[in-house]
Amino acid sequence: MGKYIGIDLGTTFSCMAYIDDSGQPVIIPNREGKNITPSTVLFDGKNTIVGEEAKNQSILEPANFEQFIKRHMGERDYMFSTVDGEKYSPEAISAIILAKMKADAEEYLGDSVDGAVITVPAYFNEAQRKSTMDAGTIAGLNVIAIINEPTAAALAFGISKGNDKQQTIMVYDLGGGTFDVTILRFDKENIIVLSTAGDRKLGGYDFDERIINAVIEDALDKGLNIQADDIARQDLQLKAEEAKKTLSAREKANIVLNSGGKPYKYTLTREKFVDLIEPLLFKTVGSMETACDEAGVEYSDLDKILLVGGSTRMPLVRESIEEETGITPSSEVHPDEAVAIGAAFHVLDVIKCEKEKVVRGETSDKKVANATIPEVKKQYTFTDVTSHGIGIVVSNRNNEEINSVILPKNTQVPAAYTGQYTTTVPYQESLKIQVTQGEEEDLRYVTVIGTADIEIAPREKIVEIEVSISCDENSIIHVRVYDLDLQRDLGEIYIERVANLNEEEIRQSQQRISKLDISGE
Ligand code: ADP
Ligand code: MG
Repeated sequence: MGKYIGIDLGTTFSCMAYIDDSGQPVIIPNREGKNITPSTVLFDGKNTIVGEEAKNQSILEPANFEQFIKRHMGERDYMFSTVDGEKYSPEAISAIILAKMKADAEEYLGDSVDGAVITVPAYFNEAQRKSTMDAGTIAGLNVIAIINEPTAAALAFGISKGNDKQQTIMVYDLGGGTFDVTILRFDKENIIVLSTAGDRKLGGYDFDERIINAVIEDALDKGLNIQADDIARQDLQLKAEEAKKTLSAREKANIVLNSGGKPYKYTLTREKFVDLIEPLLFKTVGSMETACDEAGVEYSDLDKILLVGGSTRMPLVRESIEEETGITPSSEVHPDEAVAIGAAFHVLDVIKCEKEKVVRGETSDKKVANATIPEVKKQYTFTDVTSHGIGIVVSNRNNEEINSVILPKNTQVPAAYTGQYTTTVPYQESLKIQVTQGEEEDLRYVTVIGTADIEIAPREKIVEIEVSISCDENSIIHVRVYDLDLQRDLGEIYIERVANLNEEEIRQSQQRISKLDISGE
């Protein structure tokens, strides 16, 4: 009988955990003995190297090296190309990382990994969630649920440190490539997400980029073109990150490079660093305000600000939060491990629900029948919210196409909302449903996530139609259409997703990835 684990598939680092027989969370180290694995892949001839060693060797073959793939999840057109012209989708690259993690976990546990909960940023849209599940499938993982990272961190906090008091908490998660801020309410047994905001393209990587640009500029003044030197540029990437980390503990850090045979040194002081990243910190403050506004709470209503993510080790981040809110942020959870631990706790919940389903005579599609679950100190049920508005494209009175939101942003899931519309012309035979994601009416600011064509019985008149959009526990969208005139339920509509791999592509990817020789060294 195998094990079930929680996986934090991070932009820069990934982490795994499980709950042992005594109900305690345990971090699963990788084969290199580290608790976190860089989410990096290097295609080195016949070998596919994942993690620390890929990062270390990246300087030799920058063009065969992929990092931050999570930033491309859900992008249909993004492909990573190796120098030899091999192409990999974001799902395939993520699957390579997951395959190594699964193998490392199986070695550590001495048992098979029969299922996993994988985490995603709260604001990941539907396509990105689906891509994450597909990556798991490609890696040969049985993905039993997807859960939002801040909710996982809150679960980890609640189960290990929680009491029965009602508390309002902000989870501030600043990682390597993404920023999430989430407001949650805890009571004895429930965690309710009130709102979530953030920035998909903001994290430690951007701080590194600011340092890199400053160094490149300074070097140019001294007659060195680092940008044109691939190897020096990759070396700078690693050294800029190191310098940033050094600054978390010291007042200054040196970056020493070698470009075109000439040595070069740059001294980064804390003061200079503040100038470089202040505009980015302002952005995080903006997201904190938005999250509070949308939750209907003031900073003074917050009982705690929980810090998650490697970048919250930066004193500047802590200071900017304290300055803005007047609250000293808490470090009660481990910034690198809390999310994976929360995912591991969530495994127990999913298995329990599935077993209850079986007892009720319903079918369970999660293959958890043989799983045993330990008793844990505390249990919570949680309610998450939708991170985007979901709607459809309709024509307004002036016959212009606009977005009509049906399921608003920050609605607690699972949820179903309906919108009433009409056909546009008499004798209309079909409806083209374009499902959108976004809050604006203007289609330039929303994304069409899927389409469906459905037939309706043509009539002489304009017909009233009802569209119901629901969002399940994994934030996957379902659409139903009703013909109100004929009182007919047209059923759940199959939506053709525009951003994701189709089943055949997933199968092909699976075959390809299973043939790769994936290692950490
Ligand atoms: P993600 O969730 O995006 O994978 P993590 O939460 O693992 O990211 O955070 C990784 C980021 O944290 C990286 O950008 C890394 O440089 C940064 N980081 C880690 N330790 C420190 C530190 N001591 N000081 C500053 N930044 C750090
Ligand atoms: Mg993270």
